Amino acid sequence: MKIEFSSLEESAASFILSDVSIAFANALRRAMTSEVMAFAIEDVKIYDNTSALFDEILTHRLGLIPLVTDPDNFVPRSQCSCDGTGCPRCTVTLTMSVEGPCVVMSGDLVSQDAFVQPAEDKIPIVKLEKSQKVVIEAQAYMERGIEHAKWSPVTVCGYKNYPAITHDERCDGCGLCVEVCPKDILQVKGSVIGVKDGVLELCSLCRLCELACLNSGIGNEPAIHIGMDERKFLFTVESAGALPTVGIIKHGLLFLKNHSDELHEALSEIRG
Ligand code: SF4
Ligand code: SF4
Ligand SMILES: [Zn+2]
Repeated sequence: MKIEFSSLEESAASFILSDVSIAFANALRRAMTSEVMAFAIEDVKIYDNTSALFDEILTHRLGLIPLVTDPDNFVPRSQCSCDGTGCPRCTVTLTMSVEGPCVVMSGDLVSQDAFVQPAEDKIPIVKLEKSQKVVIEAQAYMERGIEHAKWSPVTVCGYKNYPAITHDERCDGCGLCVEVCPKDILQVKGSVIGVKDGVLELCSLCRLCELACLNSGIGNEPAIHIGMDERKFLFTVESAGALPTVGIIKHGLLFLKNHSDELHEALSEIRG
């Protein structure tokens, strides 16, 4: 397996994953989306809510605020020795007390933990008129995105096959396919079709070029062929804010490694 980053920032990353099967690429995507843990608010005590929102809607909005997470410093509540009652090893308490007129923002949440904080301060929660109040105490803990999307650390996590564009000897360089390519990556080189330098990855595999070639009356097969590298994938990952993208990728790979180790052990026992 090989990973080459074309861009790597805290909030977004693009990379090429190669020398793996499509099953592995999809497993990594699913691990990053559904298995990497992140903090989110789950239990809310409402002491006062005279805003225009029902308690349930207010609570739902609080649950969707991304919270910065360090998975190495906490244990999942479901695996904690407190048996799910909540303790400092698995749970963080956040409070909020705001009186209008104002817009209540995610930054109004006060966390008892210096690290587990709202990823953004300017996420609006509810508008308060004069004398309206929101006073709450919330408990947040780590879970997997497979339980609820609010625990997923990603907003975008997907891949596409690496494109492979070839042509055969029937190409006469007429350029019809160049005109229809929505990504503008094709060009006639000499008297045959080719791909401009450094832009092959932009190909969306839409095959409009093949259609244009067919429409030129070339026969039953186009002279340009859009294929895919079966063991090379272009990934895009965008973080919701709980973890940096590099942390999401690292923990996604660790999840796969740990589970394949467990499977290996189980198979060894069966064979043994
Ligand atoms: S498949 Fe689509 S994006 Fe790719 S080269 Fe052909 S027309 Fe362009
Ligand atoms: S691939 Fe087809 S449409 Fe494109 S330049 Fe060659 S002959 Fe023309
Ligand atoms: Zn606990």
